[in-house]
Amino acid sequence: MKLSFWGATKQVTGSMYLIELKNNFKILIDCGLQYESGDNIEINEDFPFKPKEIDCIILTHAHIDHSGNIPTIVKFGFKGTIYCTEPTKALVENLLYDSVNVQLVENKSKNRRNKHRKILYSSKHVKESIDLIKIVDFNNKFKINENASFTYYNAGHILGAASVLIEITENETKTRLGFTGDLGKNNSKIVVNPEIMPDLDYLICESTYGNRLHKCNRAAEDEMNDFITKSCVNKKGRLIIAAFSVGRTQAILFTLNKLFKKGKLNGIKVFTDSKLGIASTRIHEQFIKFLNNEAIDFFNEKGSLFEFPNLKIIESEYDQQDLNYQNEPYIVVSSAGMIEGGRMQHHVRNNIQNPVSTILIAGFCTEGTLGYKLLQGNKTINIKNKESAVYANVTSTDAFSAHPDRDELLTYINKTVNKNLKKIFLVHGDNKTISNFKDFLENKNFTNIETPYKGYEFIIE
Ligand SMILES: [Zn+2]
Repeated sequence: MKLSFWGATKQVTGSMYLIELKNNFKILIDCGLQYESGDNIEINEDFPFKPKEIDCIILTHAHIDHSGNIPTIVKFGFKGTIYCTEPTKALVENLLYDSVNVQLVENKSKNRRNKHRKILYSSKHVKESIDLIKIVDFNNKFKINENASFTYYNAGHILGAASVLIEITENETKTRLGFTGDLGKNNSKIVVNPEIMPDLDYLICESTYGNRLHKCNRAAEDEMNDFITKSCVNKKGRLIIAAFSVGRTQAILFTLNKLFKKGKLNGIKVFTDSKLGIASTRIHEQFIKFLNNEAIDFFNEKGSLFEFPNLKIIESEYDQQDLNYQNEPYIVVSSAGMIEGGRMQHHVRNNIQNPVSTILIAGFCTEGTLGYKLLQGNKTINIKNKESAVYANVTSTDAFSAHPDRDELLTYINKTVNKNLKKIFLVHGDNKTISNFKDFLENKNFTNIETPYKGYEFIIE
């Protein structure tokens, strides 16, 4: 068989790996949107194979950098089966329709006078994609055909996220390939701990935080309580939290709910303002049994994980405007997490010049994004074509991180190592991170570590 790497190679977006069997059966692992560089439409439409020749796609999780290019491959003729877990199906449906809306809005602002607007895909392609999905349970070996089967293992990370162990039998030899997908941390808010895929021959491992250590070692509740005390209680100001819509927003709302139940919110109002975030929150409530024991116990004892009397959901722009005139301290949880778009930009614009407002970034920010520039300490920033001086307090936390750090990845890899493991491929990390992580592993006496570039092919006899 041949394994080739077509995305998330020395970068973090566009996850896509291809397994071609000797009998020409073709399995794609993930089909993510790439949005790090250049013309996104051209890059994402440029498949290195004929889409109609792909037999199936095994999806690890719903995030757009893993699922977001599925409607494009469908547009170009893919008609095979798309496998994913049940919660992933629910989340991916929301994310893909949202992705169409984001493209339409972006196009509108970029091409006001240009009639030749182009988008990567439309709602029609999303609908066709969703119709191809087949749900597969966790920890249940699924036989694709005589030569290929796969098993989903819990990856943590976000609701429904899976690592995939693929077993291929060729020439009467069985080969076990493990794709981590995106992993979560142990003891994360809401989601379960990652499971180890047993007896692998090859590991394809994510490396998002392969060169850094999480700074926050205390409980997320204590960390959040501190931010609230400093910004809303002591300064009587606003706490504006930028969080990804899927996973992070729910972890933060759950934390705020727990603080409320302990009487620590002191009457401070909380607003959640992200259409996709609100839809994702509802999906989390539908799939409680997939969450960790802490979340399930809380649900059984106290009811809703995410709703509490101080919380108001912003449903309309009118409500959003209303927020500007609130004199009392409040907390907003909104997205996009890197402040690159979404309603969060509106909140940042309204608070950036307010010295008693705090902008808290609760996730990873890629270079070049507004969130990254704020964290670099830029004195002025440009939001929606308006240059503004930064007087607000800008801060960040990794207490809600959805990825393991370097040492947690090492622990995961150590648990995965077995006498049959022949190679580890590092993917899903930027160039510098992946090369540092390779050096780090080699210093720990690991051999046979590869860092594939885009188009790298590996033959397994
Ligand atoms: Zn992810």
